[in-house]
Amino acid sequence: MLRPALMEILPGIHHFNTDPFNWYVLKEGGRLTVVDAGFPGHYPVCCAGLRSLGHDVKDVEAIIVTHAHADHLGFARRLHVETNAPVFVHEADVAAAGRPLQLPWWGLLSHAWRPFMASTLTRATVNGVFWAPGVTGVRAVKDGDTLDVPGRPRVIHAPGHTPGQIALHLPQQQVLLSSDVLITQHLLTGAHGAPQVAHRGLNHDDGQARRSLDCLHEIGLVTLLPGHGRPWRGLMADALKLARETA
Ligand SMILES: [Zn+2]
Repeated sequence: MLRPALMEILPGIHHFNTDPFNWYVLKEGGRLTVVDAGFPGHYPVCCAGLRSLGHDVKDVEAIIVTHAHADHLGFARRLHVETNAPVFVHEADVAAAGRPLQLPWWGLLSHAWRPFMASTLTRATVNGVFWAPGVTGVRAVKDGDTLDVPGRPRVIHAPGHTPGQIALHLPQQQVLLSSDVLITQHLLTGAHGAPQVAHRGLNHDDGQARRSLDCLHEIGLVTLLPGHGRPWRGLMADALKLARETA
């Protein structure tokens, strides 16, 4: 029996933790948006989680991939095939999303001697990183778009981790699905902590990733739901200060 590791953060916002890979479900009425898609091996976890919410996978109306890395693209194609739900990706990551094996391999493998990284790579392998297909035929999104999908998230383009990295803002719930723009777990050591930018070795353009924090400064009180790590609640100004301090 699969344990979905599922938590309702706020009404209609569900957090799946397939440690250390997070993905989310936004629920509006009986309609669902899946935000990020773990690895291919997490598909049964998704189905079990949706069943525990009283839903079927067919209730998924939209799939949003916050950036074209394999730990977020994972089962997106399978979910798309099973549901016919559109897959949304930022226009700058559309090409990469169509290719398999998209990960910052050099940064990951050069730290494989660390116990946490070794276990992360093992879990990635067991869950199908090497057979994760790319996703084609996606719908391109851009900064400022409010997506007409369950949850109605607003797209914030915050490049750096990848060129098309986005965060998703839900202003009414004061939630930011921050993906890998702001995470709360150190990806080399596994330590949980304050909001932070991913380690420079894992960013496509580390300087840009840090400059992109400015894109978030208008947000006030917020629950951050990161791509890796635990939820964090507080003022965005404090989150940004903490992230800059750890830079
Ligand atoms: Zn990630």
